[in-house]
Amino acid sequence: MRISTITNWAYAITVGLTLLSGAAFIFATHYADRERDAVAIAWDLDGRVGGLERAAEQTTEDARLYVLKGEERYLTAFQSTLTGERELESLLKTLKATDLSSAELAALKAIETDAEVLDAIEQRAVTDYRQGDRDKAQGALFSPEHEEAQTGLLTSVGHFIDLVATRAQEDLAQARAQADLWSAIAKSFLGLTALVFLSVLYFVLVRRVARPLLEMSGIVRRLARQDYDVKISNTGRRDEIGDMSEAIQIFRDNGLERERLDAERRKDQETKDRILQLMHRLQACRQESELAPVVALFAAQLFPELSGHLFVMNDGRTTLAASSTWGQPSISRVEYPALECWGIRRGRAHLSHELRGDVRCLHLSEHAPSAALCVPLAARGDTVGALYFESPSEAEALEAARVYIELIAENLALAIANLQLRDRLANLAIKDPLTGLLNRRSLDENLSLLRREASDLPAALLMIDIDHFKRFNDQFGHDAGDYVMGQVATIMTAIAAKTAMVHRFGGEEFAVIMRGADKVAAMAMAEATRRAIETAPVTYQGRPLGTVTVSIGLASTEDGRPSATLMQRADAALLRAKSGGRNIAVSDWSDANLQMA
Ligand code: GH3
Ligand code: MG
Ligand code: MG
Repeated sequence: MRISTITNWAYAITVGLTLLSGAAFIFATHYADRERDAVAIAWDLDGRVGGLERAAEQTTEDARLYVLKGEERYLTAFQSTLTGERELESLLKTLKATDLSSAELAALKAIETDAEVLDAIEQRAVTDYRQGDRDKAQGALFSPEHEEAQTGLLTSVGHFIDLVATRAQEDLAQARAQADLWSAIAKSFLGLTALVFLSVLYFVLVRRVARPLLEMSGIVRRLARQDYDVKISNTGRRDEIGDMSEAIQIFRDNGLERERLDAERRKDQETKDRILQLMHRLQACRQESELAPVVALFAAQLFPELSGHLFVMNDGRTTLAASSTWGQPSISRVEYPALECWGIRRGRAHLSHELRGDVRCLHLSEHAPSAALCVPLAARGDTVGALYFESPSEAEALEAARVYIELIAENLALAIANLQLRDRLANLAIKDPLTGLLNRRSLDENLSLLRREASDLPAALLMIDIDHFKRFNDQFGHDAGDYVMGQVATIMTAIAAKTAMVHRFGGEEFAVIMRGADKVAAMAMAEATRRAIETAPVTYQGRPLGTVTVSIGLASTEDGRPSATLMQRADAALLRAKSGGRNIAVSDWSDANLQMA
């Protein structure tokens, strides 16, 4: 019950009890008045009847003095007293109309009768005296008849006074009892009012207000110190204290929620800061191969509960292969066809999880409770790889990390695309687009580098020219000529492997720089190249193009030969190879070592 309701009820009860108590007091006062009235009436009757008695005695005395002494003044006194007595009698008669009891009325009647008898004797005696019959008059006033009448009157008066006194006593007792009763009732109501007032005051102030308020102020103090562990007991009260308690509960819940959001925001900010650091590192990478360890390092720190791979797309855009790994991923194969991934197919992040009811990527093993997220790395309209994360059982961790993973994927894709673009641009600057070999510019740079190095080790230069190349163009068309050039370049690259640098010098001429190679090694390489090309079957669009041969001129820096004239000397040797019949390797260090095919 609300405190306001309690106080309203208490107020109404107090007012009601106060009114009842007032009414009881009024009744008590009324009966006190009745008590006083009873006394007053008894006194009044006593007084009047007493007056009548005294008047009767006075008339008797005046009448007797008059008949004894014959003085007129006694007659006058007798007559005036008699008049007074008559008036008293008439007054007493009016009392009959008031509520006298029948016994009192009878007693009053007896007084009247006795008074009239006495008055008649005395008046007759006075009349007799005035008519001169003095003895008769005196005899009548002192006769037994007169005495009897006088005694009768006194007896009647006494009887009446007794009756009135008795009734007054009864009225008085009754009125007093009533007055006492109502006074007690009034006092009880007053006491009850005070009790109700004090009880309500105690209940409201101590039990319902003070104690809960004290408790709440302690709770509020703890909440102000952000101590949200504080317990708020649910009193279930539907009053102001209940409202306050509910408000404090809401305040606590809001505080907890705010703390949770703050923690979430802090964690989010920390994650974003870390991702920003990752982005800076990615942008600073100079080669694609540098990206993988950076991604693995940061991915493991950012998402310790997840494992994963960075998959990179091959040049043909057909296969994805893991270039780095973090945690212990176990569900996905480390190399798989690009179309086995729904993320790659759809061009957007794909969560493989049975419980989420979505299709499972084909590169994942049937590992039921596990969840995996594949985010394609797409930039500039090209898919360059995929960022892969897996969770041992629950998809929640992946869902929570998804937005960050997508952010990383976006930046990683851009970084990879940028590095690939840079590589492509660099290749364009140093490589020949038709054969993929280093271009003339690179050859010049590499030769000047060689000159500057002044190494103790020898170096060799092979100048290679395709024999009668014009014939392929003329006979099979320019594209076939290009194809032959490409085939020759592939063979040379394969033989040179990592020991030499193969360049396209221009047209169908090539230059191979061999650092650290002596004359024997250089000649071996030249001979191996010449033989490989000569023996390679070359067909273009199903048509055999015939045998392709090359002439090779070699020059070396061995034996103190200058590196500055390497090119010149190799060119001269090539010229000699051509004039020597082609399909041969000729060195500048000995004309005697002409190698015939
Ligand atoms: P030799 O044995 O004396 O070297 O005879 P050759 O025909 O190879 O030499 P020549 O210098 O007479 O002809 C070279 C030809 O190579 C001329 C040119 O049309 C052709 N050629 C040069 N660059 C390219 C190219 O990029 N593609 C094609 N298809 N042909 C080229
Ligand atoms: Mg040529
Ligand atoms: Mg040629």
